Amino acid sequence: MARRIIALAALFMIVPAAAGPASQFDAVQMRATHVAGSIHMLEGAGGNIGVSIGDDGTLIIDDQFAPLADKIQAALDDLGGDRPRLILNTHYHGDHTGSNAHFGRDGVIVAHDNVRARLVLSAPREALPVVTYADFINVHFNGESIELIHLPEGHTDGDTVVWFAQSNVIHMGDHLFNGAFPYVDVPSGGSVTGFVANLMKVHAMINDETQVIPGHGPLGNRADIERAVEVITKTRKIVLDHLGAGTVAELRAAGFGAEYESWGRGFIGQDRWIDIVVESQLSDR
Ligand SMILES: [Zn+2]
Ligand SMILES: [Zn+2]
Repeated sequence: MARRIIALAALFMIVPAAAGPASQFDAVQMRATHVAGSIHMLEGAGGNIGVSIGDDGTLIIDDQFAPLADKIQAALDDLGGDRPRLILNTHYHGDHTGSNAHFGRDGVIVAHDNVRARLVLSAPREALPVVTYADFINVHFNGESIELIHLPEGHTDGDTVVWFAQSNVIHMGDHLFNGAFPYVDVPSGGSVTGFVANLMKVHAMINDETQVIPGHGPLGNRADIERAVEVITKTRKIVLDHLGAGTVAELRAAGFGAEYESWGRGFIGQDRWIDIVVESQLSDR
């Protein structure tokens, strides 16, 4: 439960990434899952971390919360890695960039232009991306040409998916909360319409064998993206139909029905998802 509260707080920026007593993170254990070839996934508290360890050294995708930096490094050491030479940020949220200041002292942080633009307002110099890009960039590391592809106006305005074409692995950042309603950060340039369009773009890029690392939730595949598109699209339509009829309050009380109940058990509950769809619709107009 504590893990969930911490993640929730960070998700909504109630606390800065590094705030809160370290003891909140004491119980967090990093769990590594082998994905494919040199690629692993680390779960702790906050966004799932992608890892590549090989002849060129260690690369990580996202770095959770600042108090977890030593645990992340210990998990990388256990996998045979060392201090990351490259740190890729999928977006600016504190549950994905909290350890930037730690890893940025020795490694190079790479992210979309808008990640730097937002982090520069509050983060120390060593936490800032050094290499930024507008649309995409290729990183050549551990025998792979790794593509960082910007997805516009989705979860935020500065999201990237990281595509390991040779290994057939993609890290989705927060464009996938696997099996749960997603958080769409409308005040940071996110949009539910854009979010779905971005998911469909990724869906067209990958195949049924692709391993999909979600921002939150268990390791998935292309069918999980398909299901996310379906659930987001259908529940969004339900909300907008009620919005037009002025009966959103009734929907809130009645819920989406049993088919979608488990989707509201993640970070974003049913009522929060309804609010996000309405907020996004109003801002799209
Ligand atoms: Zn997240
Ligand atoms: Zn996020």
